[in-house]
Amino acid sequence: VSLASHDPSSVSHDVSVAPTIGFITLGCAKNEADTDRMSALLANAGFHLAHVQLMGSLDEGECDEVAEVVRSSDVVAINTCSFLTSASEEAIAVILDVLAQHDFVPGHTRLVVTGCLPARYGDQLDDELPEVDAFVPVDREDDIVEIIQRVCGLSDAQMSTIGEAVSGPARLRMTEEPWAYVKISDGCDRFCSFCAIPFIRGRYHSRTFAEIDAEIAELVSCGVSEIVLIGQDTGIWGHDFSVPDAEFDVFDLAGMLDALARRYPETWFRVMYLQPEGITDNLLATMARHDTICSYLDIPLQHASAQVIREMNRAGDGPTYLALLERIREQVPHATLRSTFIVGFPGETEDDFDELLDFIEAASFDYAGVFAFSAEEGTVAGERIDQIAEDVRMARARMLQEHAERMGHTRALALRNTRVEVLICGYDEERDCWYGRSQAQAPDVDGVIYVRNVDESHNGMRVAVNIDEVYGFEMEGVLV
Ligand code: SF4
Repeated sequence: VSLASHDPSSVSHDVSVAPTIGFITLGCAKNEADTDRMSALLANAGFHLAHVQLMGSLDEGECDEVAEVVRSSDVVAINTCSFLTSASEEAIAVILDVLAQHDFVPGHTRLVVTGCLPARYGDQLDDELPEVDAFVPVDREDDIVEIIQRVCGLSDAQMSTIGEAVSGPARLRMTEEPWAYVKISDGCDRFCSFCAIPFIRGRYHSRTFAEIDAEIAELVSCGVSEIVLIGQDTGIWGHDFSVPDAEFDVFDLAGMLDALARRYPETWFRVMYLQPEGITDNLLATMARHDTICSYLDIPLQHASAQVIREMNRAGDGPTYLALLERIREQVPHATLRSTFIVGFPGETEDDFDELLDFIEAASFDYAGVFAFSAEEGTVAGERIDQIAEDVRMARARMLQEHAERMGHTRALALRNTRVEVLICGYDEERDCWYGRSQAQAPDVDGVIYVRNVDESHNGMRVAVNIDEVYGFEMEGVLV
């Protein structure tokens, strides 16, 4: 249980009567950023906070952390993921785990469920989980203070004894890493036939440059050295503004990156979730122009067969994607390429799958995430009658993953005996070694580089490292 960067004494509230809100965050980076934002709203209103970050269902160590959050909290808030049925099931398992905790006292401890699960299942949950005091879908998260006030039965007068609402930070980080995710947009307009996100997160909406810039300024002033820009579809950021931001003259992703690189010259910027259509020559030229914009492109292509891609309600085919990758490699020297693929989409034939295998060989990605198709309730693909048998989907996923890893390992091996710049991010107790990441490695999804001769004084610094060992996607080296 930690609250790394929030010192309650820095806020002038009467903290002796403030309830403690214990956040449990599930799912992806976007949820992590949402928890930080809700935590800031609550802290600014005078509440205490505790927090634990979970990746999915509870393992042994995480059980202890959850028990500690429940023990120390008046209100437990679970920020859920519901992108896939399996994620919804995990969220419900965590809710039931919390309710079963010895220190969860019915009638005394309150339980609030936020995020994607209530956004996806709405009113159905009231009957299924009557023990939950409030469900807060994504589009109501900004009302979290009023909702928690109501759940705790606090009058306006009692709220004012907790503390006058202050305008503190926009975001209360729950981790101490020297990098942070920053959401630049939410929602999605693409309606890929397999995906529930547009129904959960709503239509695409960009955050303004002023908001994004203010959040980054706050993070950089706290020592953050790498900003990872996220959204469901980052490449089209700004297309929904009726007029460009007059103050900053920034109106697309390339312009935003250019402005950020100039305003924060010591900070790395990385963009995730770039759909192919968003990769303009202007964006590539901007990436190539600034050393601090990571030459890293994360492009979820999902498939290579024209037939499957069309049925996914997406655009393109294998040859156009290969041409795109060639254009990127020409314009951004040493670009690192990541993609994700879905296999076993309804109606996917052996020929479609073979085409995807051939594509992966030709594309030679540095990293590729492979997912077996999951039939999601309420989606077009989920309702199709030509579903592929589970054993076939799993076998195809394994085979594609093996291919992708073989290609990725070959590319990683080429880094042996080279010198790279590494941002030192943390300490691995099991290995008794500090580690970091290069521009070619995104947090949470790619490997890390263990650096044998650095210590705590290097944490958060960028250092030159000679790589002398490569094990799959993990590397090891020494400080130069
Ligand atoms: S681009 Fe497609 S897969 Fe990605 S969030 Fe939007 S609808 Fe879902």
